[in-house]
Amino acid sequence: MANSKFEYVKQFEQPDNLLPNTWIVVRIDGRGFTKFANKYAFEKPNDKRALELMNAAARAVMGEVQDITVAYGVSDEYSFVFHKTCSLFERRASKLVSTIVSTFTAYYVHYWSTYFTDTPLSAPLPSFDGRAVCYPTVQNLRDYMSWRQVDCHINNLYNTTHWALIQLGGMDGTEAEMTLKGTYAADKNEILFSKFSINYNNEPEMYKKGSVVFRDYELVEPGTHNTSIDADHLAEPVQQSKTQTENDRKRRAKARIVVEHLDIIKDDFWNRRPWLLS
Ligand code: ATP
Ligand code: ATP
Ligand code: MG
Ligand code: MG
Ligand code: MG
Ligand code: MG
Repeated sequence: MANSKFEYVKQFEQPDNLLPNTWIVVRIDGRGFTKFANKYAFEKPNDKRALELMNAAARAVMGEVQDITVAYGVSDEYSFVFHKTCSLFERRASKLVSTIVSTFTAYYVHYWSTYFTDTPLSAPLPSFDGRAVCYPTVQNLRDYMSWRQVDCHINNLYNTTHWALIQLGGMDGTEAEMTLKGTYAADKNEILFSKFSINYNNEPEMYKKGSVVFRDYELVEPGTHNTSIDADHLAEPVQQSKTQTENDRKRRAKARIVVEHLDIIKDDFWNRRPWLLS
């Protein structure tokens, strides 16, 4: 196969390795999900099944791609964070993005019937687009995550109020839109509470905060010893870092992948899970 006269075409391939030592975020987003949501009669403003399906697909992606440290999902989108030291596919953007998009899409379709038990999928099938962005500092990465979660909050407060005006207030879409035009968060909270006795704070956490997916290690208390150190690790100091890396890799592979609905804007989430960004 090598050295044929056709092989020169390989030179047309452009390198797309992402900047070293930066946090890579691959964000995927459902294509035309406004239409897709209508077709499958997603409950408005939040279809629980659809969100849980997104979460199941994201969890499966993390199970297959060990290099992802944390993921965050809202609506029809998911952001997957690769550690800044990641060397998967030599950090080639097209390889990383296409692998995440196709793995996610495959699981989304695979798990569909688990969450939409009585509505089989039919063409046009769900598909997702994807992009990769590099963030040089932990602060930039955390600001990115905060940006997505703030977006989740703003959209959810708007949508919750919008759909309450329609479903409970009998308005049509245009009337609801007009009612909310120029309102602040406090106004929407007030509309929900005074008109519909809905306390926004009591809405489900998954809707208000989105979903964060991560590997759940048992936190090691400071000062305790790691009893799983093996003999060759102790006997062979030169091998130490290699063995440690291998141990870390095994621990990572074994760790449970959890989906939670937590505040990722404040420090607390990250401080309690130092392995995510260290
Ligand atoms: P594009 O292809 O440009 O992304 P889109 O129609 O998917 O177009 P988005 O901005 O991604 O546009 O919006 C996602 C749409 O899917 C919104 O209309 C949102 O209401 C709907 N949607 C996604 N998830 C859910 C859900 N769990 N419940 C109800 N609606 C949802
Ligand atoms: P990578 O993830 O790097 O692409 P790979 O294992 O997929 O790794 P490829 O170079 O893409 O490596 O090779 C595809 C492999 O799949 C080959 O081993 C090939 O023999 C096998 N394969 C693909 N299609 C068929 C097929 N129709 N019948 C038999 N084997 C197949
Ligand atoms: Mg899009
Ligand atoms: Mg979309
Ligand atoms: Mg979207
Ligand atoms: Mg292959």
